[in-house]
Amino acid sequence: MPIDYSRYPPGWKKEIVPAVLKRANNKCECCGLENGSTAYSIKLDVKDDNGRYKKRTIWFRSKEDAERECDPYYEVKPVKVVLTVAHLDHDETNWDVSLDRLKAMCQLCHLRYDSKEKFRRYATKYQ
Ligand SMILES: [Zn+2]
Repeated sequence: MPIDYSRYPPGWKKEIVPAVLKRANNKCECCGLENGSTAYSIKLDVKDDNGRYKKRTIWFRSKEDAERECDPYYEVKPVKVVLTVAHLDHDETNWDVSLDRLKAMCQLCHLRYDSKEKFRRYATKYQ
């Protein structure tokens, strides 16, 4: 889904994002992967709380570790790590920007962080 940057505060791309990435030392503040590095992705079958299996993506720093953890028929895919800046309160329209509301996250950590909020919004909308 394309990002509508008109909802973001002025200076988002040129000032705010660079400040957060600098604070994070250009690494994901959740998993520690470095911006622009290569991670190795596999999908594992993981049992959820209801006993159902679902695919879960897991990244490794080395291809050897990924290959060791997955079944031989799974494909290990190289992924370029791209740091993004997440709103910890999920409110990109709040222009009162302070760095403690923001966190540098790789795309996988960001998706996981936002997925809980997307589910909450979806559940609220259709209950
Ligand atoms: Zn991460």
